[in-house]
Amino acid sequence: MPTGLIFSETFLYHNSNSQFPHYDSPDRLLACMELLQKTTYFSLLHKPEIKEISIDSLNEVHSRNHIRKIESSKGKKGFFDPDTPFTEKSWISAFKAASSGTTMVDALLEGKIKNGFSLLRPPGHHAEGDRIMGFCLLNNIAITAKYLQIQGFKKIFILDWDVHHGNGTQEIFYRDANVFFLSVHQFPFYPMTGLPTETGEGIGIGTTQNFPLQAETEDYTYIRIFKNSIVPTIEKFSPDIILISAGFDAHKNDPLGGMRVSTQGFEELTRIILECAKYTCEGRVLSFLEGGYDLEALSDCVEAHIAVLQSFS
Ligand SMILES: [Zn+2]
Repeated sequence: MPTGLIFSETFLYHNSNSQFPHYDSPDRLLACMELLQKTTYFSLLHKPEIKEISIDSLNEVHSRNHIRKIESSKGKKGFFDPDTPFTEKSWISAFKAASSGTTMVDALLEGKIKNGFSLLRPPGHHAEGDRIMGFCLLNNIAITAKYLQIQGFKKIFILDWDVHHGNGTQEIFYRDANVFFLSVHQFPFYPMTGLPTETGEGIGIGTTQNFPLQAETEDYTYIRIFKNSIVPTIEKFSPDIILISAGFDAHKNDPLGGMRVSTQGFEELTRIILECAKYTCEGRVLSFLEGGYDLEALSDCVEAHIAVLQSFS
């Protein structure tokens, strides 16, 4: 079965580069596509057209006020927060990105793919239910998880290995016992959340787990944590599907992150999770781009990540 790949030209509309340089530039996706198109497996990937989700589906995750803020940015330029600019058509990129995961879920349910990667922007994991922040407008992975719940998936595991803590995804599922959120991130670092003491609330206690790591952490430590802690946690939770917030800004060449992960390191982390998914959830894995700001490192990591997905498909 092929691996799914979502990419849309509409993801390039969100572009503040005409005003000032911003790390989350459309060039990120263009660099990835340029490399992917040269691979032998590119033509084998299943590339569904994005089906736009309804405002009601977005409303499962975000407040009316949050959605209205994005809609009312149509045709304007400005800032949602000091890190998060918007331009005339950013709202189109945001709604299309938010519809990527749900399109992948439909492809999964139709038996067209077993796993897939959404090469999207703007990223999503910092966006809370009622707060736009840190380059993130809509929480793409959370919207997908809610959609999966509506489609009958009982237990969903979200793994976030972006160098920044996925505060938005954590906040959205903090009281949900059926969505496990696990983050491995640099700490202390933006957004300054993600301590081991943050473990969930109410019936959600125990289904949030954080691994804050000091700057300069290398492949060896990541791989050890993945094998010794994360895989057993996934096995114990026994999810129906694994979602990955795949940021590649923990790469040693990234200009924002301070970690030392190599491209081969990310390839190995992907392999560890796909191996685990094979016997816990019949290989069902949907992955989403979050950060990653060195164009060469990002495109190499995305290519390696998709190659592993493809090899398990
Ligand atoms: Zn990040």
